[in-house]
Amino acid sequence: MKVTEDLAELRSLRAAMNGVFGLVPTMGALHAGHASLVSRARAECRHVGASIFVNPSQFGPGEDFNNYPRTLEQDLALLESLGADLVWIPSPEMIYPPNFQSWITVEDVARPLEGASRPGHFRGVATIVAKLLNCFQPERAYFGQKDAQQLVVLRRMVQDLNFPVQVVACPTVREPDGLAISSRNVYLGPAEREAAPVLYRALSAAKEKYDTGERNAEVLRDTMRTIIRAEPLASEEYVSAADPETLNELQQIDGKVLLSLAVRIGRARLIDNILIEG
Ligand code: AMP
Repeated sequence: MKVTEDLAELRSLRAAMNGVFGLVPTMGALHAGHASLVSRARAECRHVGASIFVNPSQFGPGEDFNNYPRTLEQDLALLESLGADLVWIPSPEMIYPPNFQSWITVEDVARPLEGASRPGHFRGVATIVAKLLNCFQPERAYFGQKDAQQLVVLRRMVQDLNFPVQVVACPTVREPDGLAISSRNVYLGPAEREAAPVLYRALSAAKEKYDTGERNAEVLRDTMRTIIRAEPLASEEYVSAADPETLNELQQIDGKVLLSLAVRIGRARLIDNILIEG
């Protein structure tokens, strides 16, 4: 496994790799969710690359950029054990040099949900992913369904700007009690960790209603709200039952629906979702 911080070296190592190249962009603090993306890429591609970069521009003021967990040694050991070939660890100065002024703004699909709660977040995400795609030039890029809106935004960007890459969505990896695995779960104290499966319980209860025939989206949102509000350590930021392509809130569900929510528990802000394919 080759590891570099240098872009010129990355480009020359990459250029020597023939055949399908799969990229897994990450912010490090790697866990089983990231591992599932790397394993999927390993199974589908001749060469597997990963990036580790805690992207400052996707964090808002007052968010956790400074405290975000950083575990580089462990991350590299995990990537090596999973069979990654090439890892890029760029510096913030290389990604955003002093006179940097080119940003990618995806419009409608980046506005609701996470976009409304975290202004500027998807501008940061779209810009870093565009840069990573330009630097690695992968044929395939792997992202987690855990960040459902991120996938919608990035698919839009890839299509709108003609990036020659196939975006691959990978299922959310969960703890046995349903909590979606996240680098931010380390912020949870013991009582908060016990409360945290409430997100998946709320989503599962809404899905259960859907499965037994409920098609009124407001009823599904209410089901989620009621369960979140019953957990004293949890405070709801949003609950949503939206069209998975436009992310507009639905009233009546005809086909697919993306159930999603954001909840604060202690100092952790947790998100989760279930995509119902209809
Ligand atoms: P991050 O390091 O948080 O930026 O995540 C890097 C990639 O891993 C993103 O595509 C995430 O959606 C994905 N990811 C994070 N957590 C999970 C999970 N529990 N299951 C599947 N993919 C995940």
